[in-house]
Amino acid sequence: MFINGAWVDAIGGETFEITNPATGAVIGQMPDGDERDADAAIAAAHAAFASWSTTTAYERADILMRAWQLMKDRAGELAELMTTEQGKPLKASRFEVGYGADFLRWFAEEARRITGEWLPSSRPDQRFLAVRQPVGVVAAITPWNYPISMLTRKMGPALAAGCTMVLKPAEATPLCAKAIFEILHEAGVPAGVMNMVTAQNPVPIGDAFTSDTRVKKLTFTGSTAVGRLLAGKAAASLQRVSVELGGHAPFIVYPDADPEQAAKGAAALKFLNSGQACISPNRLYVHRDAADAFVDTLTARVQRLVAGNGMDDGVGVGPLVNDAAVDKVAAQVEDARDKGAGIPVGGYRLTDDGLDKGHFYAPTLLTDVTPDMTVYREETFGPVAPVVVYDDVDQVIELANDTHYGLAAYVYTQSLKTAITAFEALRFGIIGINDVNPTSASVPFGGMNDSGLGREGGHEGLDEYLETKTAGISLR
Ligand code: NAD
Repeated sequence: MFINGAWVDAIGGETFEITNPATGAVIGQMPDGDERDADAAIAAAHAAFASWSTTTAYERADILMRAWQLMKDRAGELAELMTTEQGKPLKASRFEVGYGADFLRWFAEEARRITGEWLPSSRPDQRFLAVRQPVGVVAAITPWNYPISMLTRKMGPALAAGCTMVLKPAEATPLCAKAIFEILHEAGVPAGVMNMVTAQNPVPIGDAFTSDTRVKKLTFTGSTAVGRLLAGKAAASLQRVSVELGGHAPFIVYPDADPEQAAKGAAALKFLNSGQACISPNRLYVHRDAADAFVDTLTARVQRLVAGNGMDDGVGVGPLVNDAAVDKVAAQVEDARDKGAGIPVGGYRLTDDGLDKGHFYAPTLLTDVTPDMTVYREETFGPVAPVVVYDDVDQVIELANDTHYGLAAYVYTQSLKTAITAFEALRFGIIGINDVNPTSASVPFGGMNDSGLGREGGHEGLDEYLETKTAGISLR
């Protein structure tokens, strides 16, 4: 663990193993911390806040830029580590390292734009000044599916704002987190400013983070169930809360869209990270007029996908995170099959050629999907593309909005009017319009409803780490 600028063991002396999800091989060990380690990390972050929060924005930006450069220099080795620890194909890992690094550069630049306002008063002899200051110690809890970018998306703005941080990475991917902390340390982040506690059991750490009044903000990315639980605990301590949670994205293909283009987009997006993405489409609404061409193209694309170890050339779909994830995907597919879905491709676990040692499920296409199927309502987080054929263009937005989630949605159409109407009516935080990658460090990312509170990235991403202070100044 990394506490007060030093690599340390857990106070209890325990460790836990990290495994490669493609092979089952043990690839490392990390300290297994508990609430005592969390307390030490919070104490270090608390002590470092006074000096870090008063550094100049120029100093903080320089450190972030150095960290960005180090991430770029080490992109190859970081990507290999990510594929080994998390499973996604090497090309996707390289992409994530670039995306993750970009948050450091973006927020290095934003650091220098933290300004205040001179405001009017009703009294002629009074002036008002409002400035923004860092909130204080931030506690961050992150998931395994994007084990680097989900960290830098929080670290970049926290450091830029002048906050200090305690982080607990996901128990499946602490080695990626360790590599990023090494970079931050090398880039010149002072002792105590960034601290990391690792643990196999997240509960005592989460409890310590959310019950400690030295912590002023909780930022969490992960499942809706855990986010809701932690946000509730943090609320009791009156901590500020941002939670980036699960999703169930609709992907709407209008009758005027190019069905082949849409199917290619759907294939590229759905099987990214083996479907383990919060913005992954979970309901592909295809108009009946476009359905045959769409399904034919998607079927051909899915058939071509090669599942396997992400380090191997040509592999487009890696393993799932663990066996429980494979069981969940299999149960959703069986439920859909029992209720009448067609399965032109996939629909089974992959166990041949050594894949039984990892956690693999075949890239799968479901057709004739209906609202009574579990897959229509619950986040799959696996390589399954459920196609729903619709007839009424006027009703499809209502169908798409019929979910308690609200993270991402996608629209394929040639009509500007249809695109803008859909964009405005969809109750989701991020909309791809003829585009399957509507994310970047420069834009706000986040969801509505059960998909979370707050935004990361863009200008808004920095606001989450700042609070406003007002001065009333008498001229009398
Ligand atoms: P998860 O909620 O199980 O775990 C996320 C983190 O919370 C991990 O670090 C875990 O150790 C920790 N955690 C789990 N239970 C805890 C508890 N009781 N107390 C404290 N900490 C606890 O989610 P996951 O399986 O790691 O990630 C997948 C989920 O994350 C999906 O639902 C996905 O949609 C979501 N996600 C959302 C975004 C987004 O930006 N909205 C991005 C990536 C992933």
